[in-house]
Amino acid sequence: MDFNDSPSEAAFRAEARAWLAAHAPAHVLPEGVRLPDTEQAERERVWQRTVYDGGYAGIVLPTALGGRGGSIIDAVIWAEEEARYNLPHGPFTTIGIGMAIPVIGKHGNGEQRARFIEATLKGDLTWCQLFSEPSAGSDLANLRTKAVRADDGSGDWIINGQKVWSSWAHLTDWGILVARTDGSVPKHKGLTFFVVDMKTPGIEVRPIRQISGASDFNETFFTDVRIPDANRIGAVGEGWACCMTVLMGERLGTASHGSRIGELMDYAQATPDGRGGTALDQGHVRLALAEAYAEERAERWFQARLRTMVSRGENPGAMAGMVKLAYARRLQKTSGLAMELRGPAAIAAAAADAATRDLQHDYIWSTVMRIAGGADEVLRNQIAERVLGMPGDIRADKDVPFDQLR
Ligand SMILES: Cc1cc2nc3c(=O)[nH]c(=O)nc-3n(C[C@H](O)[C@H](O)[C@H](O)COP(=O)(O)OP(=O)(O)OC[C@H]3O[C@@H](n4cnc5c(N)ncnc54)[C@H](O)[C@@H]3O)c2cc1C
Repeated sequence: MDFNDSPSEAAFRAEARAWLAAHAPAHVLPEGVRLPDTEQAERERVWQRTVYDGGYAGIVLPTALGGRGGSIIDAVIWAEEEARYNLPHGPFTTIGIGMAIPVIGKHGNGEQRARFIEATLKGDLTWCQLFSEPSAGSDLANLRTKAVRADDGSGDWIINGQKVWSSWAHLTDWGILVARTDGSVPKHKGLTFFVVDMKTPGIEVRPIRQISGASDFNETFFTDVRIPDANRIGAVGEGWACCMTVLMGERLGTASHGSRIGELMDYAQATPDGRGGTALDQGHVRLALAEAYAEERAERWFQARLRTMVSRGENPGAMAGMVKLAYARRLQKTSGLAMELRGPAAIAAAAADAATRDLQHDYIWSTVMRIAGGADEVLRNQIAERVLGMPGDIRADKDVPFDQLR
């Protein structure tokens, strides 16, 4: 990727910027206000529909599927321009667009692509990810939720089991689900991938209350949930390859969560240092901001490099985890710095001080990216083994049939 826009890229940037200037301001989220889940979801749907109607949804997807048929660089340009506004984006759109569409696009059949992709781009369908279970997080292939064929010859599948940490499952329409269809083979081989309508009888979603007071994620229980074979994505037993497609999208997409360093700099400049100057006059604050800025730039360019690889049909593999690792670490550092700049008021905020409530929320929330989508330690192991060629972890269960594992 050339960091300077080519003439056609510059033209696309100008066009996107003008369109956003005309349409985005009406959808910008109010500063310092946390909307109820249902309202946030509705705003995401409306913004997604606006983007679709404007012709900017699914920049790299073929026009036949409702996308724009653009290049991966166009997608980067669009993301950069869109990030100038605080627009309603979240798991409703990121799981659908960042995870469900790639897996359906790559492993689904023509009928499934036609059924789900454009509806998701329009904001008509929202998605949750039903992967993790009580004994299957970092070791995802250890999952126990079972899918067995119904014995009535219909070809339907009957799902039983439990998922956990299913973000937004209480609000979304569909889920991407991985389940075990064969316990007689090693754990990575007996898995199959499905999409499931969250309103199907037998699905019970129980919200989990978090330290922040919010309930973003859930336990999801499946009791004799019947789903048609038309909801199976890819071949029976090929679920692990589908999971890898999803996780690559999740990790590579992470840094598009944007950067708040500009805001942090503004904040430092607006915070008195008690000596007649501002926090920005203090050397240690400037140093911390400069480090965060440099890290954010390096992360962004590295992400651009990986996206360029993807655009050439190359697979970044475990390198995609490096983007998420760097982003998660920086997020914790910068939200910690924001709390530090705020001083004692960051802990004992006045009830009316919405800005500090926001900072506190971000600080508490900043820990999650070190776990969600793959814990730091596990990503480091993958990078050590697959990128640096270091000796692998011991995996005694790798070739043992799942049913024989203790
Ligand atoms: C905010 C948030 C949202 C999430 N949303 C979803 C969602 O929508 N859908 C979904 O399916 N899941 C979701 N998850 C779950 C997430 O994917 C898992 O939490 C994650 O994969 C870690 O698994 P675990 O929690 O079971 O931890 P464990 O796997 O039990 O790990 C616990 C600790 O042990 C360490 N560890 C484990 N194995 C190794 C190893 N081999 N080497 C070194 N250290 C190791 C880990 O690094 C970690 O520190 C979400 C999680 C969070 C935090």
